[in-house]
Amino acid sequence: MSAPHVISASPQFVDWLFLDLNSYFASVEQQLRPELRGKPIAVVPVDTDATCAIAASQEAKKFGIKTGTNIGEARRRCPELITVMAGHDVYVEFHHKIIEEVERHFPVHVICSIDEMACKLDAPRRRLDMAKDLAKRIKQGLRERVGECITCSIGLAPNRFLAKVASDMQKPDGLVALLPEELPGRLLELELSDLCGIGRRMEPRLHACGIRTMADLWAAEREILHRAWGGVGGDRFWHGLHGGATEDDVPPAHRTIGHSHVLAPEQRPPPAAGIVARRLMLKAASRLRRMKYRARQMHLSVRLEDGPRCEAQAKFEEGSDSIVLARVLAELWQKVMQQARWQRVKKVSVTLFGLVAEALPQQLELFAPAGSSVPKEQRENLSRVLDEINQKFGRDSVVIGFTPDTVRTFSGTKIAFTRIPDREEFKE
Ligand SMILES: [Mg+2]
Repeated sequence: MSAPHVISASPQFVDWLFLDLNSYFASVEQQLRPELRGKPIAVVPVDTDATCAIAASQEAKKFGIKTGTNIGEARRRCPELITVMAGHDVYVEFHHKIIEEVERHFPVHVICSIDEMACKLDAPRRRLDMAKDLAKRIKQGLRERVGECITCSIGLAPNRFLAKVASDMQKPDGLVALLPEELPGRLLELELSDLCGIGRRMEPRLHACGIRTMADLWAAEREILHRAWGGVGGDRFWHGLHGGATEDDVPPAHRTIGHSHVLAPEQRPPPAAGIVARRLMLKAASRLRRMKYRARQMHLSVRLEDGPRCEAQAKFEEGSDSIVLARVLAELWQKVMQQARWQRVKKVSVTLFGLVAEALPQQLELFAPAGSSVPKEQRENLSRVLDEINQKFGRDSVVIGFTPDTVRTFSGTKIAFTRIPDREEFKE
């Protein structure tokens, strides 16, 4: 790649720092077990060759082994491959240590997954030289205080989308900046599928619009991407690609807090499934309160055993207390199950949205929710006390409307790649 044609003595600026840990689960294993360092290892969920790697060490990646590679296939490529059983709680523990270390240098704006986070830079650190300096200090801090095996690739760019792209461009231990005035610059080195948001389904749709290369994508008008995406997703992508503000500054109103669960056979009759829905809602409500938000809408979606999905949503006076939210859910449940003709349920999802920050001055509650004579503040305080009891004495010590035993089998906190459980959540 030739040097960009911008010659300028004025300082250059970036707005976002995106940090992506290299071979995260594998690096944690190598950190904890020095005998694994420098060796090709694959982290697996179960101990069988029929499974797939959920992470591969740098050394294993040299053999083309990556997340999703079948272990049998991986062993053919690299006979000396060592498989290691995943230890999710350790990965969460390291995750929190890593956040703590990054925050010694700069506040994390958003945690994107267990091994990715983004910082929105402030005025002094927007200068490229300062941002690079910050990135180097973070890298050094991780090595010195979290572990020598914990390395990361950092991307700097005018928005979070491009900062993530930049973090992907050099691995391991990368530091790449995409400057707004140099775009498309190094973007042209990439394939369409290298970009977050262009998956296996999106690529053919772009081809159908005549977009086959990054140069085509860069040249495409916003309307073309709107059409390719079939909606505002395309406009957003266009803005992100061209360095504009993206969903980074998402106000809480556009965020969601939700949980879903695929039901074990014994949970599939509607009465048992209803309890699962309630448990998911309480978990979401607890998270809502911890994030100091209130919700104004709830969505309930149910997938039946034989395929179809039924859903409903409701708007309500903003709130975060479990009793009121449970009442909203009960109404939604009736609606959805009527649509579903009370058939067996395979999957339940509950989402809270229309979030508002708790700190905002509250509107006067002119009409209390039906049947409630307790003021909102008191109900919210009660919910918070329940959270505290559950924190102290373990999950489901106190629940609303069902006995703990009915949910114990499923409400365990698991790691999602898209959302990291907070430490507290293991007890919610
Ligand atoms: Mg990573």
